[in-house]
Amino acid sequence: MALIVQKYGGTSVGSIERIKNVAQRVARFKAQGHQVVVVVSAMTGETNRLIALANEIQSHPDPREMDVLVATGEQVTIALLSMALMEMGLKAKSYTGAQVRILTDTAHTKARILSIDEENLRRDLNAGHVVVVAGFQGVDEKGNITTLGRGGSDTTGVALAAALKADECQIYTDVDGVYTTDPRIVPEARKLKTITFEEMLEMASLGSKVLQIRSVEFAGKYKVKLRVLSSFEEEGEGTLITFEEDAMEQPIISGIAFNRDEAKITVLGVPDRPGIAYAILGPVADANIDVDMIIQNVGADGTTTDFTFTVHRNDFTRAMGILKIVQGTIGAREIKGDDKATKVSLVGVGMRSHSGIASNMFKTLAAEGINIQMISTSEIKISVVIDEKYLELAVRVLHKAFNLDQAA
Ligand code: ADP
Ligand code: ASP
Ligand code: MG
Repeated sequence: MALIVQKYGGTSVGSIERIKNVAQRVARFKAQGHQVVVVVSAMTGETNRLIALANEIQSHPDPREMDVLVATGEQVTIALLSMALMEMGLKAKSYTGAQVRILTDTAHTKARILSIDEENLRRDLNAGHVVVVAGFQGVDEKGNITTLGRGGSDTTGVALAAALKADECQIYTDVDGVYTTDPRIVPEARKLKTITFEEMLEMASLGSKVLQIRSVEFAGKYKVKLRVLSSFEEEGEGTLITFEEDAMEQPIISGIAFNRDEAKITVLGVPDRPGIAYAILGPVADANIDVDMIIQNVGADGTTTDFTFTVHRNDFTRAMGILKIVQGTIGAREIKGDDKATKVSLVGVGMRSHSGIASNMFKTLAAEGINIQMISTSEIKISVVIDEKYLELAVRVLHKAFNLDQAA
C-alpha cells in the first residue's frame, strides 16, 4: 500500500464529465489498496474569470480581497469531486487550505507555505477516506485567506506530499509529461521520460508553466518523487523528475523554455561611478518588483554609461514610474521602456561539459535575422531577450538546430 498525492489541473476538472473521470481514476488507485490525497485546481478559466471581475471594479484590486475572491474557484471543485467520489461508493472529504491549515506568510496573491498540519488528513486517510484538498490556497497566522500565485496548485500538491511523506506526487495535466519545449508551440517537441531536478527548476523558472517553480523547489528540498502525467490518457508513465544525473545518457540540451511576460527598461547616460546600480535598482526593489536580467555597459567615454534590466510585464508601468521619479537624483539622461520583450532559454545539465552551445544558439538566431537584445548564462542555461514577434520562430529554429525533435 502506498500513499499517493494526485494533483489535477484546471482542464482536468474543467467539466462535470472531467470531474467524474478524475473520480474514476482515483477509485482505481483506491481499489489497488493505496491511500489517495487529491489536490484540485479551479475549473479551467475560472481563476481568469474571477480576476477579470475584480479588475472591472478596481484597477489594482485589494490583495486581501483578491485572495478571498480567487480562492473560491478551488472550493467549488473540491466539493464537486468529493460528491463524485461518494457517488462511486467511496468515502471522501474535502478541505479548503485553511481547513487543513496550510499556513502561509501574509504576502497576498503570492504567499509562501510555512507549514502544514497533516494530522486531520492522516486520520481521514487511515479511516479509508479519499482526502480532497483545494490547491492554490492557504491561510496566514491571522486567519486571512492567502493564495500561492498562478499555477500554485502544483505547489500545494508537492507540499502536501512532502508533509505526508507520500510515496509519490503525481501532477495530472493536459499533456502527458514534460516535453523538450511547449508542444503547443512546437508540434515536434518530444516527451522526456525523465528530467533532472535542476533542469526542471530552470525550465520552470524560465517560463515553462507545466510546473510552478515553487513546486519544483519543494520537491528538491524534501526529495519528493514527482511525476507529470496526462489526466486524459489511461496509461502512460509521464515524466519523472530525477535527482541523479546519468552522465552517459545526458543530452547536452534537454529543453527550451520561454517567457512572454518580460519587459525591458534602459536607463541611458547615467554617471559611471560606484553606487549607480544601487541607486537605480534600490527603489525598484523597495517597491517589491523583482528584477530579472541586468546589463551595465562600460561607459565609452569613461564618464557615463547605460544600464538595462528586465522586469515582469505586470510590473512594467510601476517600474517606469519609479525610475521617472528618481531620474533626476541619479542623473540619467533618459529612461526608455519596451514592454514587448520576451526571453528564450536553452536548458541542459550536459552544457556543463560542452562548449560551443552559445555560439550555435547565436548563429541559429542570426540566420533568421533575429536580433539578440540581452544575454545571460549560467552553468546549465543560456537565455536571450528578443522581440516578442520573433519568439515562436526562435523556439522552433532552436528546437531543430539542437536536434531536440530527434530521440536521444
Ligand atoms: P494545469 O491546468 O493542469 O496546471 P497548465 O496549463 O498550468 O496545466 O500546464 C500545462 C501546460 O504547460 C501544457 O498544456 C503546455 O502547453 C504547457 N507547457 C509549457 N512548457 C511545457 C513543456 N516543456 N512540457 C509540457 N508542457 C509545457
Ligand atoms: N487556479 C489557479 C490558477 O489558475 C491555481 C492553479 O490552477 O494551479 O492559477
Ligand atoms: Mg498549472
